[in-house]
Amino acid sequence: MSFDTLGLSADILRAVSEKGYSEPTPIQRQAIPVVLNGGDLMAGAQTGTGKTAGFTLPLLERLSRSAAKGPRPVRALILTPTRELAAQVEESVVTYGKYLPLKSAVVFGGVKINPQIEKLRRGVDILVATPGRLLDHLSQKTVDLSRVEVLVLDEADRMLDMGFIRDIRKVLAVLPKQRQNLLFSATFSNEIKRLADGLLHNPALIEVAQRNTSSELVNQVIHPVDRTRKAELLSQLIGQGNWRQVLVFTRTKHGANRLSQQLERDGISAAAIHGNKSQGARTRALADFKSGGVRVLVATDIAARGLDISQLPHVVNFELPNVAEDYVHRIGRTGRAGNEGEAMSLVCVDEHKLLRDIERLIKRDLPRVVVPGFEPDPSIKPEPIQKGRAARGGQKPGQSRGQGKKPGGGSSGARAGGQNTNSGRSGRGGQRNRSRAAG
Ligand code: AMP
Repeated sequence: MSFDTLGLSADILRAVSEKGYSEPTPIQRQAIPVVLNGGDLMAGAQTGTGKTAGFTLPLLERLSRSAAKGPRPVRALILTPTRELAAQVEESVVTYGKYLPLKSAVVFGGVKINPQIEKLRRGVDILVATPGRLLDHLSQKTVDLSRVEVLVLDEADRMLDMGFIRDIRKVLAVLPKQRQNLLFSATFSNEIKRLADGLLHNPALIEVAQRNTSSELVNQVIHPVDRTRKAELLSQLIGQGNWRQVLVFTRTKHGANRLSQQLERDGISAAAIHGNKSQGARTRALADFKSGGVRVLVATDIAARGLDISQLPHVVNFELPNVAEDYVHRIGRTGRAGNEGEAMSLVCVDEHKLLRDIERLIKRDLPRVVVPGFEPDPSIKPEPIQKGRAARGGQKPGQSRGQGKKPGGGSSGARAGGQNTNSGRSGRGGQRNRSRAAG
């Protein structure tokens, strides 16, 4: 099936074909007609399925069919949990809408607000935002959402995990009642269902099989190893395999920094990406990694979420995640679009319970391969796993970094740190978040 039959205009089809897509992915095939019809949608799809084009293409089509009168009001609002995802979604809007007379903007925290205000003032049709910074704009009255026709909640489950529910509700309160709502989520917890119940009207339900969710395309292997020898083993694997592009996951920001420094000392170029890094540093690290200038990107789960780095040949779990679902998200980075990928996990004696949880979730046992010279010492006893900041008593919950002083203060308490994707939070989802607060 080709894109031509989906009801998209020639200008959009041209952009899609220039991007190199020959046929729509399952989520695109199903979502595009629903969105074009103006109906609400609840879609189960995670990063890697092509969901972004699934909502962006029909959204562009609809907006381009009816030009707004007078100065451009925001007609479509896309909310995302993280800055990276917001930036990537807007990039997609620009790419697919390059032949359309529509303007877009992205607003997120951690960067200066004034250029965003200036851009909003000049008028945008499509606004991509993270909830915290959007509320800043609302409280400063630098954005008007009273003419929004379409709302998209992207990675809604992540937004709830990160404690954004109150911020989302505040945004919903200022939107016109009459509008189209699209909700994308990788998982459907009761909390998501509650949100959807209050938000969506007779939604079409679409669920696509998770592309390569721990699937055949990803070769998964466990390398048992002692906790103190993991870095050494990783350097050896990278060196011997001559891997050029490796995404490595650690549980904590501190661990990510330490590991990337160790790799550098071993002569392997590496960069760390996590919530404590400035936006500029994160963007740079990602760009260097994509361009091949940096061989290893070491990331925490939350920082990596939503990054558009696909078809990676190698993903390494330097440490297993505290939450088994994150394993699935992590390995979903490799083997995309029909390419084989390899996901390996360096597992020490402390992590056996985490490994059991993962195997239960993915319903299969993963092969153990001991690398010669790295046989685990059976006399080493398990130690409790450090759960990151909250457990170490570092940054206090609600203490935000890098976002500067909050003007107005109205909503900052409820979201401090959220956009930075890493701090412990109060409110729903906070408890779960705290256990993954190391991101
Ligand atoms: P997403 O799930 O939206 O994050 O998209 C995952 C990746 O798939 C991105 O790198 C897209 O550029 C790519 N992609 C999206 N749609 C298609 C398509 N129809 N054919 C091939 N690749 C696609």
